[in-house]
Amino acid sequence: MSIPDLELMPLSEQHQFQNQKLSELLSYVQSNSPHYKELFRKEKISADKIKGVDDLKHLPFTQKEDLQLHNDNFFCVGKSTIIDYVTTSGTLGEPIIIGLTENDLKRLEYNEYLSLVCANGSADDIYQIITTLDRRFMAGLAYYMGVRRMGAGVIRVGSGIPELQWDTIRKVKPTALITVPSFMLPMIRFAKQHDIDVNASGIKKAICIGEPIRNPDFSYSTLAEKIRSEWNVELYSTYASTEMQTAFTECSQFNGGHHHPELLVLEVLDENGNQVGNGEPGEVVITTLGVEGVPLIRYKTGDICHYFSDPCKCGRQTVRLGPVIGRKKQMIKYKGTTLYPQAFFDILGRFDDISNYVVVASTNATGTDEIKILAASKKTDLEFEKELIDHIKAKLRVAPKLEFTANEIIEMLQNKNSLGRKVARFIDERKG
Ligand SMILES: [Zn+2]
Repeated sequence: MSIPDLELMPLSEQHQFQNQKLSELLSYVQSNSPHYKELFRKEKISADKIKGVDDLKHLPFTQKEDLQLHNDNFFCVGKSTIIDYVTTSGTLGEPIIIGLTENDLKRLEYNEYLSLVCANGSADDIYQIITTLDRRFMAGLAYYMGVRRMGAGVIRVGSGIPELQWDTIRKVKPTALITVPSFMLPMIRFAKQHDIDVNASGIKKAICIGEPIRNPDFSYSTLAEKIRSEWNVELYSTYASTEMQTAFTECSQFNGGHHHPELLVLEVLDENGNQVGNGEPGEVVITTLGVEGVPLIRYKTGDICHYFSDPCKCGRQTVRLGPVIGRKKQMIKYKGTTLYPQAFFDILGRFDDISNYVVVASTNATGTDEIKILAASKKTDLEFEKELIDHIKAKLRVAPKLEFTANEIIEMLQNKNSLGRKVARFIDERKG
């Protein structure tokens, strides 16, 4: 499996390639996208004035709300040309429908092929797909097509049922899992209860989606540490979304997910809309390349990631993204420090006595952000409280308020703030 030449070239040469693709995209949306046609007319933008990626800053952003409110206007082709319909997971508001043409499906297949090769995949591998293949999801289908293109084997087990997962591992002997990483914990529990040696299972790696398995410095997250303490598998991190129809997957250097410049123009922007430097965090903003159905220009994902532009030891010179450290809307400014709820989740997850928790952000009387943690815990004495606060102080340099309470109260708050499939661990009560 070889790396495409473009990914081995310096960034300046990658940009030259992208400049051509970008001008094709702009003339395509100017002719075919009701949304961008109208936007360009209103803002007096002429597509041929944008000569390349350096001129992107002259184009307005596309917001998630634009897609939610005017979903149909983003479709560039008629229904007869759309093959596959998927939706976003809808963690923030109404899910968005994305339609893929035959060429979009081929592009998606190529994207996942590149990702799996990047994550040390080969034709000799057998992938057990635990990710859902139906329920309007894009990821499972993308993985299936990528594995096929690589010439590797695939078993579509789908989500849940540890017994079926282990039965399949025993009978088929796959080498890799494609899964939400937290599902590996019930798999480990099941294995223990049934005398299955996870380390003799033949599983060498897991392609992890949906949850962070690394901290911004690339050390393992609490979840990844829990998995690795029992199961000696390589964990590959993936950052992807339905809107971008593209994945950023780690290589065997485990230092961020690689960008594939043939599929996407990537910007990582600070609060003033300027590209951040190497190693700095910013909001991920993407422009799709080669998408026919629902192409997007300067789409603000709302995800905050660290940006890395130094060449990788794997040979690829493409830029990389670190784990998602938070959603832009969830950013907390606390006593001069910028924080995201995920940082608290990672620390709270380390304490086995804590069975459930929520992080609540509110606005105090002086108009600044306030943080309170509500936790259900086996230990609730002052000593434990101090240990917890000291740990948070050491890691994050802030001391939030902490209150131990009954699990029922926390569950009630989580249900009230439910985000569809995901458990609400962050509750935002801030004004404005
Ligand atoms: Zn690499």
